Amino acid sequence: MSEPGSVAAIAAATSIDLRIPKTMRALVKARPEAGAELREVPVPHPGPGEVLIRLEAVSLCGTDLHIYRWDPWAQGRLGKYLPRIFGHEMAGRVVAHGPGTGAVPLGTRVAAETHLVDWTCYQCRTGREYVCANLRILGVDADGAFAEYMCLPERNAWPSEGLTPEIAAIQEPMGNAVFATFVEEITTASVAVLGCGPIGLMAVAICRFAGASRVFATDVMPHRRDMAARMGSDCVLDATGDVVAEIRRETGGTGVDVVLEMSGAEAAIHQAFEMTTNGGRVSLLGLPSRPVTIDLSDAIIFRGLRVYGITGRELWRTWYKTAALLREGLDVGPIITHRLPLSRYAEAFDLLAQGVAGKVVLLPQEA
Ligand SMILES: [Zn+2]
Ligand SMILES: [Zn+2]
Repeated sequence: MSEPGSVAAIAAATSIDLRIPKTMRALVKARPEAGAELREVPVPHPGPGEVLIRLEAVSLCGTDLHIYRWDPWAQGRLGKYLPRIFGHEMAGRVVAHGPGTGAVPLGTRVAAETHLVDWTCYQCRTGREYVCANLRILGVDADGAFAEYMCLPERNAWPSEGLTPEIAAIQEPMGNAVFATFVEEITTASVAVLGCGPIGLMAVAICRFAGASRVFATDVMPHRRDMAARMGSDCVLDATGDVVAEIRRETGGTGVDVVLEMSGAEAAIHQAFEMTTNGGRVSLLGLPSRPVTIDLSDAIIFRGLRVYGITGRELWRTWYKTAALLREGLDVGPIITHRLPLSRYAEAFDLLAQGVAGKVVLLPQEA
């Protein structure tokens, strides 16, 4: 019999392997060009305040595609950090404690709050950590999760026992949808979700689950519209059509109470303001690639709209809400369309680039 609480006891109880190898496979952005390399690299040592995590599932995000393609944003943002292990939407088990940690027991499955904040600036001290003045992002400013192991500040680890690794991993983007949706009341509201990528699809499901009265969804791609219908939208529209007129007609001329703009497309941003009822609210989460010109007087001020910029997640209010939704039975599983071992990363990025996938998950422990 092993000592209670010992590494051997935890390993036996959780049937996880707490032996840590010297090296691991990791997907590394090594050179300032498109692509990435699967390399054998040292397993990192957890520093003060950090835990070591054996990764189980890592989902791909648009940010990862920017880095993989090495587009101008990635060049400007990551150029000085290469080589860098990227990836951030993760789940795995804590397998070692760095100095000063131990609050999250060994063997615990965790997800990551991917905003690495300083906890000390004005924003952090006033409950707005998601806009920390010294914000760093996992997998961008620090080595990330496309690997067999990674280090994470223990304060950023969100215990996720009871969830499968892939659902635990997508809590991070789901948190974006939760934050955007619940920034004001949603129950009984009519809602339009513009853009049905994974976060938009999650928003559709959340609105439906949380008792929105009508959930409209728009996208340019037919298979995404099909997914939106499956996730609970009761009116799905082709974003290239006159969606403002259709939504106004469907709402008896008033427009919707709430718009969740998830696409970042300039046309959709204009549609968002036009389809919102006077006195309604717009949550903007999609990132336009260029500056967008809005007539503030007519689009927002005279119509009394409330507009929210949404970034990240509230620590930890959003995570508690996300966990509650999942615990109470909200099923976001259908949004995950592909699961591949880490070695098949190139296929995974192709799927993402083609826009044919929902969430794509890489499994670092699968050969
Ligand atoms: Zn992400
Ligand atoms: Zn801060």
